[in-house]
Amino acid sequence: MSQTRRTFAIISHPDAGKTTLTEKLLLQGGAIHLAGEVKARGQARRARSDWMKIEQQRGISVTSSVMTFEREGITFNLLDTPGHEDFSEDTYRTLTAVDSAIMVIDAAKGIEPQTRKLFEVCRLRSVPIITFINKVDREGRACFDLMDEVADKLALDVCPMSWPIGMGGQFQGILDLDSRKVSRPEGPSREFLGTVEEGVTLPDDVAEELELAEAGYPTFDIDAYRGGDLTPVFFGSALKNFGVSELIDAIARFAPPPRPQPSEAGTIEPDNAEVTGFIFKVQANMDPMHRDRIAFMRLVSGTFKRGMKLTPSGLGKPIAVHSPILFFAQDRELADSAEPGDIIGIPNHGTLRVGDTLSERNQVRFTGLPNFAPEILRRVALKDPTKTKQLRKALDDLSEEGVIQVFYPEIGSQWVVGVVGQLQLDVLISRLEAEYKVGATLEAAPFDTARWLKGTDKALSDFAEFNKMNLARDRDGDPVFMARSAWDVNYQQERNPDLTFCATKER
Ligand code: GDP
Repeated sequence: MSQTRRTFAIISHPDAGKTTLTEKLLLQGGAIHLAGEVKARGQARRARSDWMKIEQQRGISVTSSVMTFEREGITFNLLDTPGHEDFSEDTYRTLTAVDSAIMVIDAAKGIEPQTRKLFEVCRLRSVPIITFINKVDREGRACFDLMDEVADKLALDVCPMSWPIGMGGQFQGILDLDSRKVSRPEGPSREFLGTVEEGVTLPDDVAEELELAEAGYPTFDIDAYRGGDLTPVFFGSALKNFGVSELIDAIARFAPPPRPQPSEAGTIEPDNAEVTGFIFKVQANMDPMHRDRIAFMRLVSGTFKRGMKLTPSGLGKPIAVHSPILFFAQDRELADSAEPGDIIGIPNHGTLRVGDTLSERNQVRFTGLPNFAPEILRRVALKDPTKTKQLRKALDDLSEEGVIQVFYPEIGSQWVVGVVGQLQLDVLISRLEAEYKVGATLEAAPFDTARWLKGTDKALSDFAEFNKMNLARDRDGDPVFMARSAWDVNYQQERNPDLTFCATKER
């Protein structure tokens, strides 16, 4: 069953066209449902009512977290990577729950900062990437220029899978390099002009470009792609729906089915009969007074059935999963079960934490679910200095839940919180007040980022001798270097070759 699943995410910089492409993928895939629009019949009706009840009563919107569509026997699970102002550690963590990704690049802009950050997270786990160079209906940069930028900046082999025939005003269509078919942006849907061999002529300059491209770049190699070393590149226009169906075909044909997941006791294969999964994201109620949460579990192995008892690694005793949100609940047969690669939303009151493993026999612990180095650091200042204890408890709780990270400096008494997105700081302040009755403000910290330190005791104490001002402990007591800048990190890494400055920490 799991061979038919493709669980993936789209990584891009804001405005590159992720939303437009998502819509087109869902449309072309004949989306089963968007946001809980499950067909209202039989079991499926129950699924929908659960869903809406949860959304309304708990004020939690799970609307676009997972979007599922089906095409030619393949089930696609598209996981949303929140961007823009809601960019957070969740955005990164979602990438630990996918088997592959589509990288969308604006043809006029090339690789932008957020694309690059998200790409680096994919690289950590060798997540294979298909590149989609979007907006070729507008004037963009030269194709070679864009391909070379991907290759150079990301240190990836690139392989063209299609080629635009002109761009902007000159845009005439897209040539699929494998089938040699040309599709043109005419009529209600795309129109095939036939193949080059059948006599479709290409403008001289395009024919020349193609010759160069085919000679200059490696040919597609599925193993290199799946190993994360090569990215096939498609050109298209999400807005005009060009090259989108080729993209879906590419995911169906090349993208890996659910991958085995590393655990403390070795790798767990998807066809393992025991139901196992891990929590990669916890969404809290919009209303901070309610402790209701939805935990998103990626199923790793086994067939999940509604009502099943699973034991969360953080709790030790089993919970019955009675009202899971099954994102692909499109019909009677499927509404009550899920397969490896699928995502299940589990309503709970704060018992499930990011990084938890859930399993039937409670013997598996998944690894490879890292914390990511914060990109924004702030000092926490108490309004009422007698509330230190409450603050510490709150910061420990919230960091365990994955809302923030907390660092306790070796020198000085002001604790530092770290996040990767601004919105997390607002969430922190309002939850401190509502749930812990702690009034606090945030102040600028003299640090820009943090790195977990790894090395021998000697290397660590030698380093500490000269850098006490910049040392802190995280919630688990592990040593952290608080850096003034990325430059500072590189500088210290060079001077201290016996230490490793890690941008992620495995839970
Ligand atoms: P997101 O921020 O990555 O989700 O980007 P959106 O999908 O919201 O797109 C940003 C803007 O680019 C919108 O105005 C879109 O209409 C436009 N856009 C997206 N895809 C294309 C495309 O293929 N061609 C053109 N010309 N505009 C596009």
